[in-house]
Amino acid sequence: MDWQQEDLKYIWHPCSQMKDYETLPPIVIERGEGINLYDINGKCYKDVISSWWCNLLGHCNPRINAAIKKQIDSLEHVIFANFSHKPAITLCQELAKVLPEGLCKFNFADNGSSAIEMALKMSFQYHYQTGNPQKKRFMALTDAYHGETLAALAMGGVDLYTQLYKPLLLDVIRIDGPDCYRCPYGKHCTGHSEQDDTSSSRPSPQGEGAFCACECFKKAEEAFEKYGDETAAIIVEPLLQGSAGMKIYPPLYLKKLRELCDKYKVHLIADEIATGYGRTGKMFAFNHAGVSPDIMCLSKGLTGGYMPMAIAVTTQEIYDAFYDDYLKGKAFMHSHTYAGNPLACSAAIEVLKILKDEKIIENANKRAAYFNKIIKEKFLPLENVGEVRSIGLINAIELVKNKETKEPLDYTKRTGYQIYKKALEKGVLLRPLGDVIYFNPPLIIEKEDMNFVTDIALECTKEILYGTLKEI
Ligand SMILES: *Cc1c(COP(=O)(O)O)cnc(C)c1O
Repeated sequence: MDWQQEDLKYIWHPCSQMKDYETLPPIVIERGEGINLYDINGKCYKDVISSWWCNLLGHCNPRINAAIKKQIDSLEHVIFANFSHKPAITLCQELAKVLPEGLCKFNFADNGSSAIEMALKMSFQYHYQTGNPQKKRFMALTDAYHGETLAALAMGGVDLYTQLYKPLLLDVIRIDGPDCYRCPYGKHCTGHSEQDDTSSSRPSPQGEGAFCACECFKKAEEAFEKYGDETAAIIVEPLLQGSAGMKIYPPLYLKKLRELCDKYKVHLIADEIATGYGRTGKMFAFNHAGVSPDIMCLSKGLTGGYMPMAIAVTTQEIYDAFYDDYLKGKAFMHSHTYAGNPLACSAAIEVLKILKDEKIIENANKRAAYFNKIIKEKFLPLENVGEVRSIGLINAIELVKNKETKEPLDYTKRTGYQIYKKALEKGVLLRPLGDVIYFNPPLIIEKEDMNFVTDIALECTKEILYGTLKEI
């Protein structure tokens, strides 16, 4: 059978212009192992984007496989209202041990966007039920991404996803967020975490004053001053705005935001769907800042990328505002059919065990320095590489037209997409965000694969930018 043709006959793929599939048909994958994916012809692809950032510990991880197999013979699913099961309870016990302080009540959903929707509804309802019904608006940062269902989409600030749907979206208070590469204040960011000294190609700053003290935070202060009283919550992707092109900002911003939120009684919602589970070098991005959000949304790495599951975790204080006699009507009337799915919970429990037993994050951090070093060495000399930025194992290479002015490439040339196609031919799965090439590999990636995938990415970038023969 021609599987590709049959695919195109039936399937409308996510986030795709299906016409593109005429020249790049769908790659039909048969099996996976570690960071490798194998198609039906046996060709191998190195998955260095963790299959949309969710695969944490490699494909077909033997321990997670075994955990799901074991669970499936006792219970596949059960209604989660008034019913429970050991995997969900155990998962919450274990998560409570590693989450930032104060996060202790777990509300389950089955995908990231739904967890965001839950967080927003929860915050609105909290304020309504605690005597502040005027607090019904939300704040979000420029270039944010929080998913694609309508309320989650409304929080987003990436035009590619939101522009067309604006007439349908909630009116969000948009705050000019950090933009470290093109810092409007001309500051130099000193790094984003301990294992990461400086993460860009920016020239050394001239004297003290050039260092960043989150000058951009004044935009948040202005917004809170103006709208704080009518705002229920602000939502952020902590430290890393993924879909925006892996934009990274310092933990100080989160610390300041925590203080500001306390001052105006605004909930701080952490969208850790992409940043959680060691992606930034610590279990959660918020750990870098040493403060806690009021609600944290988890998904993606939560099940190691195996099963669709998400959780909105919150505090006792928020929980308590919903706790009363039934007829008071204060319950959180929100449900998803697959909430608390036992198979997903069993995968998620195993993920936490593996992280601990195999010291995954610690070991990944050791290799992260090497990964960042070789990427800088290989890419920074290119005329069109504006910046290499990194946090944890995530590394992003921003291609620009002009290094000095940081002018972007002409997006109509689809340079990133051309590089993507080239790399697929050579067996590496990149998926550039516009003209930002990035790596966000499973945390288990070894040095040998780091060398291989960065060589291929470099080769493809040069071929597309400068033609096959031109050396730099
Ligand atoms: C992926 C993602 C979401 C949405 O999760 P889905 O499961 O795709 O709905 C939300 N926020 C962030 C930061 C994400 O990376």
